[in-house]
Amino acid sequence: MAFTLQHDADRTDDDPAPDELPPGPGSCPLCGRPVYAWIALPAAGDDATVGLPLGGPERVLMRCEDCGVAFERDRKIDLAAEWTAVCRPGEPPERLIVIPNRASVQAGIGVEGWAAIELSPGRLIHTPASLDLLAERNGQSIERRRGVPSWRALGWMWQTLLNGLTFRPNFARELRAGRVHPQGGGERARFTVDLVVTVLGGPLVALVSFPLELVASLAGRGGELVATARERR
Ligand SMILES: [Zn+2]
Repeated sequence: MAFTLQHDADRTDDDPAPDELPPGPGSCPLCGRPVYAWIALPAAGDDATVGLPLGGPERVLMRCEDCGVAFERDRKIDLAAEWTAVCRPGEPPERLIVIPNRASVQAGIGVEGWAAIELSPGRLIHTPASLDLLAERNGQSIERRRGVPSWRALGWMWQTLLNGLTFRPNFARELRAGRVHPQGGGERARFTVDLVVTVLGGPLVALVSFPLELVASLAGRGGELVATARERR
């Protein structure tokens, strides 16, 4: 399967507008524009390593160059279910949305090693533009909020930078969750290196990651996308 890039500048007046394009296997479920292979992640349950998985089953994520949304190839996307997934239960008419932001600085630095890449509710990994479209498709409008980053967003930036230094991505989070069980000499050696790097390097990385996420958030490119949603009138 060949993928070619088409940017806004390449379009002509004859190109149909996004709304006129029906969603298809190779098109964005939100804006209808073509999507392209972006990155591959290990199959669910497989041991994760930072970097592209080599051989074996893997999950290919597709990316829309227009609205920026990303999603796993060959998975059905239901926009009503996606909307329910991103909204926190709350009192109507206003609902709160707090989700990972694929257009953030931390996502740009980490790419497949971004600490929040697997933490989006639903099957879509959103940008501000794609969240706007999802709201529109569900008869809602949203208002984004900017401000200081949450502890969660600060933690993601910290973990994303550490992922560049450890063998196993999200080592601290996985260890805390009890999901790290090294077996064999090689795995134990990598576990020891990851532990030492996290314990000794963690505080130093925090000196960089916290101010970086703070600046990114204030510039509107924080790791979390925070918005309130209302019914459209
Ligand atoms: Zn799109």
